[in-house]
Amino acid sequence: MIIAVASGKGGTGKTTVAASLAVVWERPLAVVDLDVEAPNLHLFLEPELTASETAFMEIPQVDASRCTRCRACVDLCQFKAISLLGDALMTFPEMCHGCGACMAVCPENAMRPGRRPLGAISWGHAGPIRFAMGRLKIGEAMSPPLIRRTRQKIEVLARTGAADIIMDAPPGVSCPAVNAVMAADVILLVTEPTPFGLFDLRLAVQAFDPLGSRLGVVVNRAGIGNRDVYRFCDQRGIDILAEIPFERDLAEVYARGGIIAQARPAIRERFRQLGRKLAANREPSTADHFKAVRHA
Ligand code: SF4
Ligand code: SF4
Repeated sequence: MIIAVASGKGGTGKTTVAASLAVVWERPLAVVDLDVEAPNLHLFLEPELTASETAFMEIPQVDASRCTRCRACVDLCQFKAISLLGDALMTFPEMCHGCGACMAVCPENAMRPGRRPLGAISWGHAGPIRFAMGRLKIGEAMSPPLIRRTRQKIEVLARTGAADIIMDAPPGVSCPAVNAVMAADVILLVTEPTPFGLFDLRLAVQAFDPLGSRLGVVVNRAGIGNRDVYRFCDQRGIDILAEIPFERDLAEVYARGGIIAQARPAIRERFRQLGRKLAANREPSTADHFKAVRHA
């Protein structure tokens, strides 16, 4: 089972929920931080990172001696990452999305695969939990390929232990977030009961509902704002799976880098119930598939 913890905007408590859910999960578990522009799940789970690797993206390199300046690649590239300036064919690696189409279309075989570093993937474990995280290189704008590679890494780690996966997704509803959640069985949307929270929750539902994953909501800071988030979920048939009260001591635990499910038995129990609700809807998924293949 793969659970993506996501939110329509930053600052809703997404990582708090991911960390708390992880420490009460009652099955083998692998956790991944896919918020590669600002990973911080490791600050809560404090994993021992035992390995890392650089993640690269394939980009085209032009062999000028073979290029006939036919423009096929220039006209094809939707990202303006190749230009013909006078007689010089120029590539702009930072604009390249690594689709490979220019290499496929070149009639002279004048494009060769090169690569540029995107960032690092680190992995290890936090107690019994397998853990991985991606960290985008400073100045790099292209996070989706790193997110996909980091996701592949946790899938490999989960496969070895037939573990479920909890993904801490990037905030928002743009390409990075969609890339992170698209493999999930359940997308857990963390929101708060305020007009801002409702606005971003609507966006998240619009963006993620077409992916076909089950959606559930966790209301953080419950008790503030109004009931519009609850009404919206009711109208859309989306279950509110847990509420986290707005209380000063929980905020203090978070500010100290603590995990709120470990702070108080009642909060721990809420997350345990959340985990059980998620597990009750369990369907065969990636981890089960791996297990079935391994035992076949
Ligand atoms: S790999 Fe794709 S995005 Fe990059 S230069 Fe070629 S066509 Fe453009
Ligand atoms: S498609 Fe190949 S031959 Fe044509 S301009 Fe691009 S690199 Fe040169």
